[in-house]
Amino acid sequence: MRKNLRYLILLLILLFVVVNETLNKTRSTSWENPLWVRIYAVNGDGREATEKYIDSLKTDSFKTIEKFVNLEARRYGIKIDAIDVEYNGHLQSGPPQPPNGQSLLGNIWWSLKFRAWATHRAWNSDSDAGDIELFVSYYDITTTQSLRHSVGLQGGLIGIINAFADKSYRGSNEVVIAHEFMHTLGASDKYAPDNQPILPQGYAEPGRIPLFPQQKAELMGGRIPLSMQDSRMPDSLNQVVVGTYTAAEINWTAE
Ligand SMILES: [Zn+2]
Repeated sequence: MRKNLRYLILLLILLFVVVNETLNKTRSTSWENPLWVRIYAVNGDGREATEKYIDSLKTDSFKTIEKFVNLEARRYGIKIDAIDVEYNGHLQSGPPQPPNGQSLLGNIWWSLKFRAWATHRAWNSDSDAGDIELFVSYYDITTTQSLRHSVGLQGGLIGIINAFADKSYRGSNEVVIAHEFMHTLGASDKYAPDNQPILPQGYAEPGRIPLFPQQKAELMGGRIPLSMQDSRMPDSLNQVVVGTYTAAEINWTAE
């Protein structure tokens, strides 16, 4: 009996989340007003070097993302500034990290915890809440070689980004932040399990002759294709575009 009740409550919560997110998705991609994107920094490893790097961050540190998204939106006929990015500062504790495994239930459970954490944080905060909130967890490059994956919750309008706390990674961190931001709006990944961008939707210039090497990456394809088997990470958003498939997913269509 009690088990059934718990099951019913969980189902109700999930139903609420699904309905809420469908509404979010419509609202967030109407492009009638600029979306407020708010970025928060978290010290992911508690190290002093990481703290120092976070102390150097300002709103200016993230303006490249705003400029990139707004320029791309204009290319697709959006007449307003699509987004407004502000840095809302350093948080003392960060969101729950996504699970490493592929378990569906584990991921659903984590995404509910992450939503609950973000809602609770916003309630207890004086700073203006954004339409979209991105939490960037930084790690010292001298002790962290590879980062856990980053996740932008589709329809949840929140994302967690794992990033390196070093100037030399600023450009690639911005690419990851922009990628996860697009996920929150409902854009899908456009690369295969081997990380190669998928042709044509994951390519910046799928009609290019010759096709290889491509000069830029498509934001959701993630990498610059050099051949059918090889690709490389873009160094910065200067080497990235939003392709037509991604633009269609987030409703960037001229009237
Ligand atoms: Zn992705």
